Amino acid sequence: MTDIKSLYKEELEAFITENGFPKFRAVQIYGWLNKGVKSFDEMRNLPKNLIEFLSNSCYISVANIEKKLVSRYDKTVKYLFRLNDGEYIETVVMSYHHGYSICVSTQVGCKMGCTFCATGKSGFSRSLTASEILAQIEASQDDLGIRISNVVLMGMGEPLDNYDNVIRFLRLVSSEDGLNIGMRHITLSTCGLVPRIYDLAEQKFALTLSVSLHAPDDETRNKTMPVNRRYPLNELIKACRYYFDKTGRRVSFEYAMIDGVNDSDENARALAGLLNGLNCHINLIPVNSVKGASYKKSSVARQQAFIKILSQRGITATVRRTLGSDINASCGQLKRNHTEEKGGI
Ligand code: SAH
Ligand code: SF4
Repeated sequence: MTDIKSLYKEELEAFITENGFPKFRAVQIYGWLNKGVKSFDEMRNLPKNLIEFLSNSCYISVANIEKKLVSRYDKTVKYLFRLNDGEYIETVVMSYHHGYSICVSTQVGCKMGCTFCATGKSGFSRSLTASEILAQIEASQDDLGIRISNVVLMGMGEPLDNYDNVIRFLRLVSSEDGLNIGMRHITLSTCGLVPRIYDLAEQKFALTLSVSLHAPDDETRNKTMPVNRRYPLNELIKACRYYFDKTGRRVSFEYAMIDGVNDSDENARALAGLLNGLNCHINLIPVNSVKGASYKKSSVARQQAFIKILSQRGITATVRRTLGSDINASCGQLKRNHTEEKGGI
């Protein structure tokens, strides 16, 4: 079966004409798909034989709302979506003064096994297709009656471990015929799959690359992020420098501050040394506690001392505002709770 919503417009046209239907039918189908129809029967201006052909050879990816939580504090919305095959993923919609931002998942689970991450703790099931990443945006927009302006690939999964589908998603979501969300409004977060960072740089997209650093030295990072044993920090930072040189886009770094693990003055000095001369910004995130891990958030005083050391060395860092704290808005947690309720892991 062909995943029809993952096709580029030209691919859809080729598919339709190769199967003996005129090209203008592809334009009609594309229009219906963009309107968010969930079945081919809804495409009312198509002849019966074409509807029959599509129903027998293609499917439309959907994200059905299984659960929806709305934060009492800041209107952040978190969805647990059920996909065509019954898998569950999470998506978060945040409201900012400049518009709505969505945090989408790219995989069901994750292989990377970071010790502080709820998704990493629940294992890996499969990668999402481009249309399944898009479906999260469409379903959220429909449900909330809004238009999303910013997309962050920071939900469940490692986007660069699903490279081809993610590239396809990026092209589709930014296309003028599609949702038309420009690359400048997109952020891709990665734990640091170095070869894929080089590949992404070659695409020369105007998106923001955000690298999950979380430690200033290999010894600490090896313990919390197993990916570091494969691609250590010197290689990762070299790839980030290359990314900046190639695209001209400033790289962001995520740094979850964990009490007593990576938040000392010495850690701050090491971090400044590591990033010396790189045009970047650091987002500090007080770590969210996760079941099965005993990590604690750094104190506010520690956060401030850390920022001060960085800024004295010319590196800008800000503490990220935590949204949706009452609804477990960091990804992986809702799915875990849901699976536990159902008697799973
Ligand atoms: N796999 C990608 C993107 C998804 S994770 C990546 O790792 O970058 C999105 C972000 O949430 C990453 O920066 C990740 O390190 C961070 N994160 C995961 N668990 C967290 C936790 N318990 N507290 C704070 N940040 C966390
Ligand atoms: Fe995967 Fe990112 Fe979680 Fe690490 S932090 S386990 S890479 S989702």
